[in-house]
Amino acid sequence: MHVISRITSGVNLQLKYCEQCSTLWLRRQQSKLTLCPNCRCAEDDLAAGVSFLQVWNRLRAEVRS
Ligand SMILES: [Zn+2]
Repeated sequence: MHVISRITSGVNLQLKYCEQCSTLWLRRQQSKLTLCPNCRCAEDDLAAGVSFLQVWNRLRAEVRS
């Protein structure tokens, strides 16, 4: 907790659970983002027309590395 309070003091960050994968991540206090950077990246790929299978394979490769 000591580390977290030191990070957030004066920077206006808050801890947020990702609504997709439940990872704990930091966001700006005014931010409306609900997904962690990893999930947002995957969402962007899906929005850009990349097939779900491609995204899934990439995520799996990242987990293995
Ligand atoms: Zn996530």
